[in-house]
Amino acid sequence: MQLGFLQNGLDSSPGRSQDGSFRKSSSVISASSVSGASGLSKFFPISKRVLKGLKEYGRKLVDLELFTHYLEEWVLENLSNDSAGGMGGFSSLFTMDELRKLDMALEGVPFQQLVRMPIFSEDSEEFIEDQYLAAEDFLHAVITGLWRTFWHKSGPLPLCVSCPSYPGSKFSSVEKAISRGRLREMHGLGLISKKSTSSKVKWDQVVEFAVFKPGILLDNALRVSANTICEALFYGFHVLISRSLSKVSSVNSDSVFLLVLDSKSGLVIKFSGDLGKLDLSNSSNPYLSVAEWIKTYTEICITPVEPIWNQLGNPNWGDVGTLQILLATFYSIAQWNGPPRKSVASLISDHSFRLQKRRTECCIIETENALVPYHDHQGGEIVALDQNDLFSNNHASRLKLKHGDILVLDDPQQGQKSFQIYEYLVGGNYYLYSAICLDHPSALLSLYVGAHPSRLEPSWEDMSLWYQVQRQTKVLNILRNQGILNKYLPEIVASGRIVHSGRCNKESPGGKCDHPWCGTPILVTSPVGEPLSSVVSNERTFSADEAIRLCRDCLVALRSAAIANVQHGDICLENIIRIVEKQGNARNHHQQAMYVPISWGRAVLEDRDSPAINLQFSSSHALQHGKLCPSSDAESIIYIVYFITGGTMTQQDSIESALQWRENSWAKRTIQQHLGQVSALLKGFADYVDSLCGTPYPVDYDIWLKRLNNAVEGSADKGKMIEEVAIMLRIEDAAESSGTSGP
Ligand SMILES: [Zn+2]
Repeated sequence: MQLGFLQNGLDSSPGRSQDGSFRKSSSVISASSVSGASGLSKFFPISKRVLKGLKEYGRKLVDLELFTHYLEEWVLENLSNDSAGGMGGFSSLFTMDELRKLDMALEGVPFQQLVRMPIFSEDSEEFIEDQYLAAEDFLHAVITGLWRTFWHKSGPLPLCVSCPSYPGSKFSSVEKAISRGRLREMHGLGLISKKSTSSKVKWDQVVEFAVFKPGILLDNALRVSANTICEALFYGFHVLISRSLSKVSSVNSDSVFLLVLDSKSGLVIKFSGDLGKLDLSNSSNPYLSVAEWIKTYTEICITPVEPIWNQLGNPNWGDVGTLQILLATFYSIAQWNGPPRKSVASLISDHSFRLQKRRTECCIIETENALVPYHDHQGGEIVALDQNDLFSNNHASRLKLKHGDILVLDDPQQGQKSFQIYEYLVGGNYYLYSAICLDHPSALLSLYVGAHPSRLEPSWEDMSLWYQVQRQTKVLNILRNQGILNKYLPEIVASGRIVHSGRCNKESPGGKCDHPWCGTPILVTSPVGEPLSSVVSNERTFSADEAIRLCRDCLVALRSAAIANVQHGDICLENIIRIVEKQGNARNHHQQAMYVPISWGRAVLEDRDSPAINLQFSSSHALQHGKLCPSSDAESIIYIVYFITGGTMTQQDSIESALQWRENSWAKRTIQQHLGQVSALLKGFADYVDSLCGTPYPVDYDIWLKRLNNAVEGSADKGKMIEEVAIMLRIEDAAESSGTSGP
């Protein structure tokens, strides 16, 4: 039962469709559908008598409880009325198609939120303040993102966010309300048009209104209460009345978008109604008339409740919940400021290349024809597969290699090369081995085995292999192509696909046959070494000299990569290796360790790349925003140095607690205090990085490398080299067993 919501479907407001929304699912959201959003049915001459009546109703109707009393039961009835689409008896608002198009258009638009929505459930004043600030910040980010994307790249914003305490009341910023101790009186946040010349914000400038309740407004099943809907309608009614009485508002619209937000989720209501049909004769009880008017003559469309903020308190910009809010705000801005200069459709085509690229990088690209796996443009060494491969159910077992196995690799640039496996390096995963090249058996190499092409379903494990092999190949190629080579960076020795034993029946060079290993991508790099994780677990803590050397070596690598605009993005114990090299002549030699950051597959090449998240070593910025700032890698190096020199790090079990640890440690300077006992230089570097954390300023590698170099050279001169425990490379052994048969 629709209970009258669709009765005014007869009202031929051009913007509305029969189901109550103004969606046009077959077309891209366009300026034309936007202009349709402002109803034209208000073009009726309003007599002075009607104006006076409306004004009186607006003035009298101030009791939310009484308003709710007249409407609640009816709203409840509609909410509990199960229907396929929409929220019970209310019509649905946006189609998934519309939301998806907006999402595509907004691809690459950097929406930001500076204040995170607190997620703990406590009821202190400070906590509520933080929540309000986060909500205000979120709405501000919504306006800024949309305006800058669709309307004007620069210039002043035509909207701001402000909160009222009751209908007709003044507006103030959240900050002001907090400073006056009046936050508890606030009931929501308005998106305010700044078109008016007056500095005072009035109700007729409300573009969109958000009911915000810091506590839990929506229950765990993501249902909204009738009470809450009534509250939103209450404010919606006042917005409509103020607009109709306004001298400044030029908006000829009888509809307003209302947002309902709490600290987790939100929904959108579109409330439309012709005030000309409101019975103004009952001035003794305006509540009754308004309730009747709402029940009979208005149209209420509601989106489902969807999560907005993630576990960290950041909005999930691409999720349905935020997209609903973005789309409602998009229409609201268009209502006030006219259609956007750039349409959704044109932005979609602008970004289609970018989207294509992103999908390609995620291995699988969905086209009407096929699922096509990643094709590397850089080296061309990883060849696209026949599309049928991905549909085969050939779940080959993961390739496990043993000591002595010989693996033949087809490198498109170098031809076939044979490698003999020495041992696997990372416990249990069977993806990283040490191996020797049979043509030049003088050095051990790192050999990464990727996921079998038929295993390209995006499981976590396969994605991580993809990062290790295909993406790392791409990143190292970028570094090589830009001439960035030094001994502190890994280097590609060979890359390509495995050549298996027996007959290969693949039909094309890029194809694969039924053999379970056919087509598996392989990356061979140099050098090989012992991961810090195993160095640390096998040995005592690092001395000051060792720590300084590690810091220096890693900074050399980071500095070189930074020249090519590459950041590592995954600095942790597993991804730094120690290589012990012999120096000097046979009689008078000493062993010298050097450190190399490996595993560059998670490197950040451009703004949209996300780094890996590591609770122990990721930078605060990475944990908080999923992005790197220029000093993020250096910050991770500080945590590494702190840890390996015996600094205590409590085991983190959530991003929240990991961030808390960082905040406390930097605030109390515990990292600097600890490092101060190890080395004044490392403490100085920690101070320097602390000053950069989260800022857009680049690390001045040169200054710090100079200082660290001086310290490293100084300690070497004094002959203070710490005797290293060499890794048993035993290349001779590996070479001897090369006679054993291949896989
Ligand atoms: Zn084959």
